[in-house]
Amino acid sequence: MHCPASAGRAARVLALAAALLGLSACLAQPPAESASARLGTVRAATRARAEDIARAFDELAPRVVKTVPGAHLEPLEVWLQQTPTLYSLRASTYSDTDGFWAEGVRRIHLRDSAEQVHRTLAHELVHASLDAVWDRLPGTLEEGLCDLVAARLVPGAAARLRAGRLATAAAAIGGLPLDVELWIEDASDGPLTARGLEARLRIVAEEPETVDPGDVFVVRAGLSTSRATAGARRAFYGLGFLVAERIAARGGLEGLLGLCQAAERDGLESIPAGSLLAAADLEPARESYLAAILEGLGPAELREILRLHPGALVEPVANLLGLGSDLEAWDDLAGVRGRISIPGSRDAVVQILDLTALRPRLEAESAERWNLRNRALAGKPTGGPASEGAR
Ligand SMILES: [Zn+2]
Repeated sequence: MHCPASAGRAARVLALAAALLGLSACLAQPPAESASARLGTVRAATRARAEDIARAFDELAPRVVKTVPGAHLEPLEVWLQQTPTLYSLRASTYSDTDGFWAEGVRRIHLRDSAEQVHRTLAHELVHASLDAVWDRLPGTLEEGLCDLVAARLVPGAAARLRAGRLATAAAAIGGLPLDVELWIEDASDGPLTARGLEARLRIVAEEPETVDPGDVFVVRAGLSTSRATAGARRAFYGLGFLVAERIAARGGLEGLLGLCQAAERDGLESIPAGSLLAAADLEPARESYLAAILEGLGPAELREILRLHPGALVEPVANLLGLGSDLEAWDDLAGVRGRISIPGSRDAVVQILDLTALRPRLEAESAERWNLRNRALAGKPTGGPASEGAR
């Protein structure tokens, strides 16, 4: 997340106005404790937390500068807050993010409770380090660049980051297809397949809206002022990551910087979309983006996607067990095995060995199916699309 320079200028103006009026409540108060890092102070609620993040800051800062061409870091502060906030008197427009870089006050704000604070710190350090030549990179691709570098520098967080970004993008441009094969092994008689099922699932965005992938070069997903909804912004983060990763895979980060330099030489405000598409080996069509996403997902990402969407397997498993029918076979749940794969990805296959943890969700699904069935038998509208035939 990138907070524009104007917000920093606004912060300074507000601070000045607050000083003149004798007010001090406009800018958020710094956290109580602090620790020194080589490039600046880290502030957090406890001393131990500040020291922990100061160590990460010292470790990550030189690696960011070494990894990203056309980058350097000047002193800055890092604040860990319950909610990343620049001002305390208004609801922050950044309150749904895990962090942002406020250029005007040279400060990185991080959510203390974020699952992957080190990864977010690396992301914000990239924003903070980029020289002016990188301004030619469209805003959403800058987010992609920051994620890409964060994934390289914090490898433990890479699979989750890639899975989240790419699956969100796929879900918003038509759905992420998953091939599911399920069967039941009867333990008492050895691995005998009682019955099986094959299905193609599609994980789609929670919000029904879809995005035009070409807008990745136009929408500035990192700006709270972007008119895109939160769901669309997340999808653009995914698309920005995809494009940045493909360009870096082909020409390195130097190649991406080269595109910025060429745009600067040509007197352009930003790199033309056509140059970025060519460098990423993408066509403007939605199918091209989707194929590229599927190609980029491996088994580690698929495992993360299944972890993020635990409900995805409920329907096929319920079908396999006959839930909601007179032949419900709950005893077979322990014997359900399977294989999930991503069509178009050679090695993205996950073996399913135990789905008993799905039991509570399956019970809810079963109850819903019985309910629908009883309503249908009683001739009542079922509330869903199934009621259309009854009218
Ligand atoms: Zn960012």
